[in-house]
Amino acid sequence: MSTTTITGVTVWDGERERGLSDVTWEGDRILTVAPSAEGTVDTGLSLIPGLVDTHVHLDTDAVTGKADRAWGIITPPEERSLHALAHAQTAMRHGVTTLRDLASEPAYFALSRMLDSGVITGPRVLTAGPVGMTAGHGDLFTPPHYPHRPPVADSPDECRKLVRHWARAGADAIKVYTSGGILSIGDKVSWRNHTDAELAATVDEAHALGMLVAAHSHSVEGIDRALQAGVDSIEHGTAMSIAQMEILAERRIPVAPTLLIHVRLDARVEGTSDEAREKTLALSAVRDHTLTEGGRRDVRFVLGTDANGVFTTFGDQMEELRIMAARIGWDAERTLKSGTSDAADAIAMGQTVGRIRSGLGADLVLMDGRPWQDIAELDTARIRAVVSRGRLVAGELPTTRG
Ligand SMILES: [Zn+2]
Repeated sequence: MSTTTITGVTVWDGERERGLSDVTWEGDRILTVAPSAEGTVDTGLSLIPGLVDTHVHLDTDAVTGKADRAWGIITPPEERSLHALAHAQTAMRHGVTTLRDLASEPAYFALSRMLDSGVITGPRVLTAGPVGMTAGHGDLFTPPHYPHRPPVADSPDECRKLVRHWARAGADAIKVYTSGGILSIGDKVSWRNHTDAELAATVDEAHALGMLVAAHSHSVEGIDRALQAGVDSIEHGTAMSIAQMEILAERRIPVAPTLLIHVRLDARVEGTSDEAREKTLALSAVRDHTLTEGGRRDVRFVLGTDANGVFTTFGDQMEELRIMAARIGWDAERTLKSGTSDAADAIAMGQTVGRIRSGLGADLVLMDGRPWQDIAELDTARIRAVVSRGRLVAGELPTTRG
């Protein structure tokens, strides 16, 4: 296996600046991060870890980028998996080298394994098996009358069985819903999803089988129930109360705020239904308050975009982080941590990615500027090269030795 060294770049390692450095990797493994020789000229280039998006959906048409419910029904799974791959590779070329899909279908488990094995070049894709109820948020992405539906679980025992089903299939995590949603058809955000007993069984079984549980929760009630069940992350968390912020901060539970998609739904990008717009506007009224107050109380917000290739695309993660900085009131370095080291820790990948450190995976983004000093410089237009699993997948590396 050949080694590659990039010399004389300023490294920001996922937590702090390391100065002008030489970074060497072999295959998908960083070997050394060492200070550059004295007298090395600073070219203004910097190296940051590949971004980690803890919340995406790979299940849309990667060609048209249109919201089309029929597409998911008429397109066979084999073909959908290749669209998912295209989305993942698009994200990778834009500096996002780890993605967690938060409602995976069986073909994605195979995709994830093929990427891990190196058979196909692509980012790390983590998967999550959805455990939702009949008439829940997850169930109602499929039109109500349609007979072929993803599995649902309607009792504590059925929840355990579905968790086990996903574990056997190879899922990394479990997704649950404790409130209704925006893009689902015919439900209300305020609808209770699952009983407390069903949630408790799901979380217990997932933890017993080594999987984290991510909870889709918009409402105060939904967040309370997710916290009570002991989930590992809150997705959206739109209407959290001050008391909940304090609990979330104290327990260091990650929250993926999924901002950009809501900014776009509010602005009514093409394809937004009247129903989705009505729901998102009601939530927007409380979102800004949640972010500023949550930021003040040190809630652990992490990068999670809800990117699905339609309302938010697979190159928008840097924009999401810029919006997080502005709305939460964070400085650039805190923001960048939430998209690298802290995002990796949040999905139990901190021993593999999220930092530029010897022994970790070689996911690297070479950029013009210093995005940890000025978040405006965290912009895909400034990407000079992307290395994913040790392979150069976009741009060019200057001054390399091989
Ligand atoms: Zn989502």
